[in-house]
Amino acid sequence: MGAEARLRTDSPAATEELAAELGARARAGLVIALEGDLGSGKTTFVRGLARGLGSDDPVSSPTYTLMHEYLGRLPLYHFDAWMESREKAYLQEGGSVFLCGDGVAVVEWADRVADELPSPRLAIELAHVGPEQRELRLRVEGRDADLEGWVASLAARGAGPLPGAE
Ligand code: ADP
Ligand code: MG
Repeated sequence: MGAEARLRTDSPAATEELAAELGARARAGLVIALEGDLGSGKTTFVRGLARGLGSDDPVSSPTYTLMHEYLGRLPLYHFDAWMESREKAYLQEGGSVFLCGDGVAVVEWADRVADELPSPRLAIELAHVGPEQRELRLRVEGRDADLEGWVASLAARGAGPLPGAE
């Protein structure tokens, strides 16, 4: 069993900040699976991730394209499986080279293409709590000592709100 953490953020900035922390420590090959309803903050999380990876590229949901790539310290590959069968076909027909590749991959609506995603990976479920509050449940699927260490450190911080960005 991998590590798990449950955190509450009280603003979009706080969600971005948590993601930026992950981006700053991410290594090539990291796969992040984002789950949660429309508006739960998946794309907001990716925005912070890109910033933490040192990219200034604008982040938007690749709902109607197959994948977006942002350039930073490592490339960030941004997938969106809202259109489930199309994204599944893309991953099966070669798009999966971007998972476990030279960069970091992040997938919105990841539960829809779970069978196509490698382990280990970091799964993050986002849920609405209030207008500006979201709960993030992080779990490591498979074994990754670094990732498990980070998630365990988040768990140790407790369920309280994270500080927002300045
Ligand atoms: P998704 O990609 O899951 O559909 P988005 O990130 O595009 O969600 O949208 C989330 C919306 O919720 C944005 O308008 C964002 O400003 C808002 N929001 C409010 N509070 C938060 C929070 N704590 N974390 C993330 N987003 C939040
Ligand atoms: Mg989105």
